[in-house]
Amino acid sequence: MKLSGEALTGEKSYGLSASSIVFFMEEIRKALEKQVQIAVVIGGGNIFRGLKGNNMNISRVHGDYMGMLATVINGLALQSAFENAGIKCKLLSGLQINPVCELTSSSRICKHLEKGEVVIIAGGTGNPFFTTDTAAVLRALEINADVILKGTRVNGIYDSDPEKNPLAKQYKQLSFDEALEKNLEVMDMTAFALCRDNNMPLVVFNMNVKDNLLKIIQGKTVGTYVTKK
Ligand code: UDP
Repeated sequence: MKLSGEALTGEKSYGLSASSIVFFMEEIRKALEKQVQIAVVIGGGNIFRGLKGNNMNISRVHGDYMGMLATVINGLALQSAFENAGIKCKLLSGLQINPVCELTSSSRICKHLEKGEVVIIAGGTGNPFFTTDTAAVLRALEINADVILKGTRVNGIYDSDPEKNPLAKQYKQLSFDEALEKNLEVMDMTAFALCRDNNMPLVVFNMNVKDNLLKIIQGKTVGTYVTKK
């Protein structure tokens, strides 16, 4: 699952909101109780994005590392929320950051998922010029995940921006090719191309709606499904 950093901001304009962290922890906990294995790739946009550095005289590469470090901050916050709730949780990172957490690898992710732990993956891909969307697809492919769940603040993929156009229409199902043809903003292009080229199904859904994640796990129609056909 990809959870954007902004989701952790809640009603605030920056940083972390304690109630949002607990809310997402609870949503994931309910899904875990259904005996599914969940790895969460966490974003960092609530704290820093590399491109923001442009206005601050910070180079893109430095800014991107700052963004990746931001994901580690979010990952630690989420990990604490799980541990405080008595749920075993492993934090891994795409960026080497000893002693905070171990470096991610497909075998480490699988080992902890198999133990019934929730796995949080921070640090993005570990490389500048990428996003955590790309990291999410990369990790999903590495562990041969069934699906990528992209939690957003809108209900799915629309024909236009639903936050600007009240008449925007939501798609229930789309193929990768349709999404490309219609120029729909699903994920950044690198992430989306990885999904399409490797036939990794994707569900875009509203993570702020209570029980949405649980419903998806139970096979109910929530959000927009993007598949090969
Ligand atoms: N980032 C990066 N490489 C990665 C993942 C992330 O350089 O593989 C940096 C990039 O600057 C990005 C920031 O980390 O803007 C935060 O990640 P992202 O924007 O994906 O977070 P989200 O929008 O999901 O909160």
